[in-house]
Amino acid sequence: MFIQSLVALVAAKSFSSIMKQHTGLLLCIALLTACSTTKKVSQTGSTSTVNNGKVWASLWQQRSAEYRALCFQAYNLAKLRLDEALKQTGGKPLAVVSDIDETILDNSPYDVQRAINNREYDLATWKQWTAKAECDTVAGAPNFFKYAASKGVTVFYITNRDEDERPGTLKNLQRYNMPNADNAHLMLKSGSSSKESRRLQVLNQYNIALLCGDNLADFDKLYDNHPTESSRNSVTTRLTSQFGSKYIVLPNPSYGDWEGSLFKFNYKLTPAQKDSVIKANLRFSK
Ligand SMILES: [Mg+2]
Repeated sequence: MFIQSLVALVAAKSFSSIMKQHTGLLLCIALLTACSTTKKVSQTGSTSTVNNGKVWASLWQQRSAEYRALCFQAYNLAKLRLDEALKQTGGKPLAVVSDIDETILDNSPYDVQRAINNREYDLATWKQWTAKAECDTVAGAPNFFKYAASKGVTVFYITNRDEDERPGTLKNLQRYNMPNADNAHLMLKSGSSSKESRRLQVLNQYNIALLCGDNLADFDKLYDNHPTESSRNSVTTRLTSQFGSKYIVLPNPSYGDWEGSLFKFNYKLTPAQKDSVIKANLRFSK
C-alpha cells in the first residue's frame, strides 16, 4: 500500500513537472489529437448510417427483454398451433419446417463485429463465422423444437446457407441437441434461393403443421423473385390470416428481404448510396 502511494506521488510530481516544462508541446499534441479525432468521427459519420443502424438493431436483439419476449411469444404460439394440428388425425405424418438464422440461431455477434468496423456483409466473413458453430440460440427455439420431436413431429431445417456450411451448421444445431439435426433434415441452398422446391419436397411425405422464420420468403413463394416493398406489403395483407396460424414469424431488425427490397436488391450500393436511399425513405416530423 505504501509503495503504491509512493509511486502515485512520484508519478503526480513528474506529471506536474512535465506540464510546467512542456506546456506548449502538450497543447500542440492536444490540438493534433483533436483534429485526428474529428477526422475519424467525420469519416465514420459520412459512411456509417447503415452500420450504426445495424449496431443499434443488434443491441436490441442482444440486450432487450422485449426481443426475448417476442421470441417466446412466437414459440408459445407455435406450440399452441402444433397442439391443434396434433389433434387432427389421419393423413401424412406431421412436420415442422424452420429457417435457421435469426429463427433458431442468433448471428448478432457477426453483425456487430462487421458493423462496428463499418464493413458490409460479405460471404467470406459470413462463412468464417458459421464455420465456428458458435451461434447462441434464439429464445424459446430449442424448447419448441424439442417439444415437437417429443410429440413425434419431424423437424426440417430449410436454410439458405450454402452446402459448404453444412458441417458448421450441423455442429451448431447439435451443440444444443436440436432434433433431426442431421444430413437428411438439413436442406441447404442448392442453386435457387427460393425455398419453395424444398418445402414441396417435404410435402411429398409430410403435412407441414407450421413454418417458422424471420424472413417472409421462409413461408410463401409469393415473396420470391425479389418483390418490391409495395408488393411484399400487399402480399402480407393478403396472407393476414396465416400469421400466427401456420406462419410463425420471429423478429429480425438487422437484415432480411425487407432491407433488400428497400435497396432494390442492388448489392453493389456503397454505404453512402445506402445512406441516401435510407434518408429518402424515412418519414420525418415537420
Ligand atoms: Mg433467417
